Amino acid sequence: MSELSTGSRWRHRIPASTALAVATAVLLLVSPATAIAPRAAAPSAAPADLGRLAEEKASVVEVVLAGSAELDALVATGVDLDHHVSHTEDGIVVHAVVTGNEVATLTRAGFTFGNVLHTAADAADRVAEREATIAAHLAANQEFAAAATVSARSTVSDVKIIRADYYTSGETQVLSVEAKWAQGQTDSTPLTVERDSGPGTEIGSGGTQNISRFVDAGAYLYHRGAEQVTSRPAYVRITSPTGGTAVAKVNQWLPIPDKDPEGPGYMKDFVASYLTPTELYDRIKALAAQYPKISEIVELPYQTNGYRRQAQAVLGTVNASRVAVDSVAWGHQGGNDIAVELADPGVVDAPLAVTVTGSQVRVDLATDGSGTVTSTAGQVVAALNAQAGTLLRAYTYRGSPGAGVVAPAAPAALSDGLSAPPSVSRDPHPVYAIRIGKHRDGSKLGVLAYAQEHAREWVPPLVTVETAERLLRNYAHDRKTRQLVDNLDIWIAPSINPDGGHYSFYDFNSQRKNMTNHCTTQSSGDFLGRNSWGVDNNRNYTEYSLFDGYSGASTSCTSGTYAGPSELSEPENRNVDWLAARPNVKFSMNLHSSGNYFMWSPGSYATPGRVSAPRPTLAEESLFWGASSRILTAIKRHRNLAVTPARTGPIADVLYSAAGNSGDMLWYKYGIYAWNFEVGTSFQPAWDEAHAETMEFSNGLVEMLRVARDFDTDRKKPSSSLSVTASGTPGMVDVTFSTSEPAAVFYTLDRSRPTYESTLYGSAGIREGGETLTVPVGTTVHWFSVDAVGNVEKNYKPDGRGNNHNKKKVKAPRR
Ligand SMILES: [Zn+2]
Repeated sequence: MSELSTGSRWRHRIPASTALAVATAVLLLVSPATAIAPRAAAPSAAPADLGRLAEEKASVVEVVLAGSAELDALVATGVDLDHHVSHTEDGIVVHAVVTGNEVATLTRAGFTFGNVLHTAADAADRVAEREATIAAHLAANQEFAAAATVSARSTVSDVKIIRADYYTSGETQVLSVEAKWAQGQTDSTPLTVERDSGPGTEIGSGGTQNISRFVDAGAYLYHRGAEQVTSRPAYVRITSPTGGTAVAKVNQWLPIPDKDPEGPGYMKDFVASYLTPTELYDRIKALAAQYPKISEIVELPYQTNGYRRQAQAVLGTVNASRVAVDSVAWGHQGGNDIAVELADPGVVDAPLAVTVTGSQVRVDLATDGSGTVTSTAGQVVAALNAQAGTLLRAYTYRGSPGAGVVAPAAPAALSDGLSAPPSVSRDPHPVYAIRIGKHRDGSKLGVLAYAQEHAREWVPPLVTVETAERLLRNYAHDRKTRQLVDNLDIWIAPSINPDGGHYSFYDFNSQRKNMTNHCTTQSSGDFLGRNSWGVDNNRNYTEYSLFDGYSGASTSCTSGTYAGPSELSEPENRNVDWLAARPNVKFSMNLHSSGNYFMWSPGSYATPGRVSAPRPTLAEESLFWGASSRILTAIKRHRNLAVTPARTGPIADVLYSAAGNSGDMLWYKYGIYAWNFEVGTSFQPAWDEAHAETMEFSNGLVEMLRVARDFDTDRKKPSSSLSVTASGTPGMVDVTFSTSEPAAVFYTLDRSRPTYESTLYGSAGIREGGETLTVPVGTTVHWFSVDAVGNVEKNYKPDGRGNNHNKKKVKAPRR
């Protein structure tokens, strides 16, 4: 369901800008990874997700131990442990490599298992990815090595510097360099980077640093490395072991301008504690009541399934003889009052009998001639359903035939497992947004910010509330805030997943998904599976989803990334789709935590083959990049925290594939410039840290509003130029374009007038800026540029009738 091509979006919206400012803007941008900021690991599976273990295949599972005596006991069983041993509040956590059968045996022996970290199926997916990745990178490396062989006879080096970024983070000054060497696939020699010590100084005077090979899945990608420096270098040089050289200008990553963007008397810092979804909604309702002229509460069209569950119990400890019970009523509507007793009648030859007294259910188990209990789990289940079916339904454990004889047990109370106070509604929950703007009729440019798709991420909602308050409380006295509120239509939805959010606060702090149970009584629908239920709301959308064959989401109802039964199956997701469908919305921010990432589409790829969702054109990506540097600089103002180059870029590059995520739906289905924050360093940090993260990312969110406003008011036309350098091929020259601001360049090489149907100048490669065109000496290039909002260079009419576009006949440059 990804039918909107970038081409048609271009024609309808003329949105895309281009960071063809190769000489300046693009080099400010990003690198895929540096030594100081490794790629994040994929998130671990849902806790206690033991249901997905294969009986005979090994998986990596946490074992939670009370102390070292229990650890010794575990080791004595001969179980396969990896090297991970961590001491936590709950005891010692180790990683065991075990089959489902071994887990069952060890559980019977009294050991407690935690998260499933890795299964055989996970491993098979990784292997498929690996094969595809190796093939693609090896091919690219061969191509470069071949090109370098040709150019060794001319002026083109076998080493190229991809990027050199200087930045400060806290008190530290850092230089991050990435370069590609033609021999990098086969030769592991590090490259040495020589630095100068500032403008006009000798290269080498600032010292040197080594950068080492980045090899992923067996394929060489490039050399990279970041090192602390004591002064800001202007230029760096790399001489390859084979004698090729490259020199590059050092670019400033996230420079902080002197001027404060906020006027005098600007107020901020409006959050004093974490807020539950109920409290978040109360807060925005109070704000809208206080500022009715410039805001209103909008109840989104779909209510959640509610913070509520049936009351449940699992009786017994051995799977074959376990009896699971669910109340017919919701827990809070009587289910929690039910208790079930499995009684040994204490007489010989007793029949199986069920007695219901109010909400108390007593099962008298059958006995044989010697008085031994003989009722199996299957028989007890049938008797309960026949005699107590108005109160409860019973079932054998996770598809077991129930052939085991049950153990007598004292009355067991059923429970919905929910412990939030009564102030948290147990009904289907409305989801609210606050809409801020002087004109809220759709006539102004729309911007959307939404948080807490993932329940356990407690800081992102605070960022949205803080931002709402800054806008409303500064409106009366701050001219720049007034410009935003008067001219934008700002939608802020602080908690998309309130049920999961409440569950995370009151019952299970690691809850990621919503609370809806899509497991069956045959799988993990029983009481013991309840912390693993739910749909990952950031995998249930319509574009490049699991259902379209994309990677990074699961069909398992207990997986941390369960995509749900179908696209938009969940009310939470339909609400986001509704928000995104507001026709004036052109910019959005999806706030998550953690990791200090800043990302955009594509967010998914298919495996095997690692075929990504379509990349934005260089034109489109330039707006992402250009705005990113502004937004990240605003974040950095608060306490000099740098979101690193390695953590900025398309989701699929800097994190991992996330099929069916909301950012991709907003970008591919609705053409919204859709960003994603991963705020901070953990899901629920200590308050001082949570507060600081709220302040810095609210700076970033406000800056996104300024980006949107500038997008709306930009009337300045871009200008562009063409530069010509020597080519490695006789009779040819290399040509690149640069532009005065993020803008797209369309060009022809056949002397025809350029139009929107002409060739769009593209990027050289992922994160590498504008491509180099190699053309015959004497070619006449015709071109024009157009910026993100459709301003055309020199007011040229690209409909085939204009004449005042750029043209240049390229000559051989002087050597
Ligand atoms: Zn998240």
